[in-house]
Amino acid sequence: MSDCIFCKIVQKEIPSEIVYEDQELMAFKDIQPLAPVHIVIIPKVHLRSVNDITPENEPLVGRLFGVVRRLAEEFEVNESGYRVVSNMGTDGGQIVGHLHFHLLGGQALNARIG
Ligand code: AMP
Ligand code: ZN
Repeated sequence: MSDCIFCKIVQKEIPSEIVYEDQELMAFKDIQPLAPVHIVIIPKVHLRSVNDITPENEPLVGRLFGVVRRLAEEFEVNESGYRVVSNMGTDGGQIVGHLHFHLLGGQALNARIG
């Protein structure tokens, strides 16, 4: 998607602080961190949100969660705790229309969900 900011990050057209990359997945530091550890994990393929996940790409999303687990270890929040969030659509507060998961940790997070 030519006008998608995360596709541009995948294509390295705009810089980002990449912390993980393989053929299908990428993780980078959020540009406006909401916690000491705030990493965005994405599939490289342009899916708009969780709503776009089909049976064909469910294994990819499963693998993405393996990356989340390893990043939680690498950034040393696996024992203190962390949150994984994917915002979807207007009520979900989604700003970037490319499926992504936030990994947040490094401090006690607000217990509220909404
Ligand atoms: P949301 O769509 O509400 O889940 O939020 C999108 C997230 O992407 C926000 O936390 C932004 O700070 C983050 N973001 C937007 N542009 C960039 C960028 N160029 N590099 C890293 N993170 C970004
Ligand atoms: Zn995209």
